[in-house]
Amino acid sequence: MTFEEFAPVFASLAVQLRCVDAEATTARVYFPVLQDLEFAFVAQAAQRLATNAEYFPKTSEWRSMVGRIEAERREAQRVLLRKLPTPLCPECDDSGWVADTMPTKPMKWLRPGPDGKPVFYERPPNAAPRRRCACQALRHAELIGARPWPSVPAALPTRSDGALTPEQSRITLTRLGRRGLRAAIKTMPAVPKMDEP
Ligand SMILES: [Zn+2]
Repeated sequence: MTFEEFAPVFASLAVQLRCVDAEATTARVYFPVLQDLEFAFVAQAAQRLATNAEYFPKTSEWRSMVGRIEAERREAQRVLLRKLPTPLCPECDDSGWVADTMPTKPMKWLRPGPDGKPVFYERPPNAAPRRRCACQALRHAELIGARPWPSVPAALPTRSDGALTPEQSRITLTRLGRRGLRAAIKTMPAVPKMDEP
């Protein structure tokens, strides 16, 4: 966050909470304490404080509000991603990480061994290299509110007593798969006996 971003948010909160002695110099004092935080969350925290707080917040109160808002939005995002029938990102299945196609090579170097003679040391190649998936940037933009949340398709109509439709089965199996589960039929359900007339 830059001071240029922070100063107007600070000034506007000072006006909203009628804090007459919060001047530009105070903003300079607050800024270093809040500087490392995500600007979007600092601004959202200011909005929340403007409606909830009775006094102008201390830096610690502002920080803890930022933490609360970030936690709320992360939870909302997690819930939303779990509601989706199919992952938003087919590349990484919404894990945020993809296998790197360029595995690191083994590294070899010479060093003096215990007896003073040069010895080859070797670092094995990284067996499962991972890199950040490009979708991480999109999910971050949604998290901070710079992009709208992805829309969740309307729930499919369900009948409590009926069999699942093929679409419902597909969605259910995908959801199980995303939780690392796989459906298997152990025994076929018995056919209900029909009463003889
Ligand atoms: Zn991805």
